[in-house]
Amino acid sequence: MDNGHEYDVIVAGAGLAGNLAAAGAAKAGLNVLLLDKNKPEEPGKKTNWGWVCGDAVAVQHLNFVKDHLGLSFSKPELDVQVDGVIAYSPDMESKFLFDGEGYVLDRPEFERKLRDFAVKSGAHYVPQFDVEGPLIEENSVKGIFGKDKDMKHMEIRAKVVVDALGIATNLRRKLPDNPYIDRVVDVEDVESTGRYIYDMEVTEEDPRYYDPKNALIHLNQTISPGGYGWVFPKSQYGRVNIGIGVQRASLIIRNQKLGKNDTLHSLMDEYVRWVPNLKNPKPFMKDNNGKGYWSVAVRRQLECLVYNGYIGAGDSMAMPNPISAGGIGPALVSGVLAGEHAARAVHDRDAGMKNLWQYNLDFNTAYGSKTAGMEVFRTYLQSLNNETINYGMKNFLSTKEAEDLCYGRTPELSLAGKFKMVLKGAGNISAFSNLVYAVKKMKRLNALYEQYPKTMEEFPKWRQQVTAEVEETKQRFQPNPI
Ligand SMILES: Cc1cc2nc3c(=O)[nH]c(=O)nc-3n(C[C@H](O)[C@H](O)[C@H](O)COP(=O)(O)OP(=O)(O)OC[C@H]3O[C@@H](n4cnc5c(N)ncnc54)[C@H](O)[C@@H]3O)c2cc1C
Repeated sequence: MDNGHEYDVIVAGAGLAGNLAAAGAAKAGLNVLLLDKNKPEEPGKKTNWGWVCGDAVAVQHLNFVKDHLGLSFSKPELDVQVDGVIAYSPDMESKFLFDGEGYVLDRPEFERKLRDFAVKSGAHYVPQFDVEGPLIEENSVKGIFGKDKDMKHMEIRAKVVVDALGIATNLRRKLPDNPYIDRVVDVEDVESTGRYIYDMEVTEEDPRYYDPKNALIHLNQTISPGGYGWVFPKSQYGRVNIGIGVQRASLIIRNQKLGKNDTLHSLMDEYVRWVPNLKNPKPFMKDNNGKGYWSVAVRRQLECLVYNGYIGAGDSMAMPNPISAGGIGPALVSGVLAGEHAARAVHDRDAGMKNLWQYNLDFNTAYGSKTAGMEVFRTYLQSLNNETINYGMKNFLSTKEAEDLCYGRTPELSLAGKFKMVLKGAGNISAFSNLVYAVKKMKRLNALYEQYPKTMEEFPKWRQQVTAEVEETKQRFQPNPI
């Protein structure tokens, strides 16, 4: 790798999305450079804290990788299989299925497997390289600049750059100002998260708090304002991936109303103590990955994912599911698609935005078409206190309706439910009419995304409509955790 050298494709970031993009482009015969700031054996490590994640992934996303790239997974990277992800109400009396069958990963093993696959496919992997920004010429990305492991400034050129740098990307954030890709994500669309991997003593069987066969989510606006807590099992009995996510605005309001000064860190420890049947936590420090904090975006993916010479994939494009914060699936899917489209653009000798546009459409079809609706539902949820969530989970929705909403589908809400509401107080009536409003908005946004613009010329008008719908919802549903 020399200063000024030109590759067909540079993939920045050897995480989930980056490794797969690099593997796909290399398999198509291209000259691919894969860069990551981490040490060689630490691909995908997000921060010095480690591979901070809940590590739960639904099986269909792993199948997507297998179908497109022929890569399949087993032990040790698939640490344990789970039947599903189950969400509990704050009073622990109601539950519904949040997501289907899947796995909790041994994340460092999983990432190393993807990295090995990229290298075997022909990508040139350079660790300990800090990507600092894009090389821009005439409104096109022409490569990247950064520092190698000896702190030498380097400029490396490519026909296409894939941005897979995760949420803190300094490629997308340094693109020229343009009407397609936002450079900034609103802080209220980002969850601050803490996650520990602990060996714990199971003092009593209670599958509402710890279930070796299911990933559990606890909705509780006091402990995790604007987010949720999770207890995901690992393969060894009593070992858990445990964490919380909080929204900044919800945390501030919650602290003001309760006269407290809690932080993500204090709430994280409170959550660990709150789980009644898991005691004596001991950090499980394999790969030095036992404790960490990081952020995850919970909005619709950026409306446009391409620029001239540039494709974004995974967290760099805010792709995690707005309700569950599940970003492994979309990172895998977008990584695969980014590799395919980078290869197509190089073969076409045209990496202009127009020619890359089909990536937007393909990601929308494979994953993204429901996320704007889900963002609306997330915003609605953040406007409810524990009492209303308890009441709503018992009375507003059937299990099937709740499950539909978590998948971004829009149920017809039954009239019987509406009549029940009238009997149970003004707060609940307004929460229910807000739910009806949210479902209508979800339908509208799902319909708009069904008609994702086929050309870049149609995009600005479509985007205006999407933004107006989402903004109207955010005006109506303000955070109100307590
Ligand atoms: C606490 C927490 C819990 C989560 N739980 C789940 C879950 O249970 N299930 C789920 O599906 N999703 C979950 N997510 C989301 C999921 O972890 C991410 O969506 C996923 O990791 C995104 O993958 P990625 O490849 O896009 O980016 P990343 O995993 O962030 O990888 C980015 C890569 O880019 C490299 N990089 C970054 N900056 C530079 C630079 N300047 N120069 C060079 N290299 C750089 C990094 O070293 C890293 O290797 C969670 C997230 C958090 C924070």
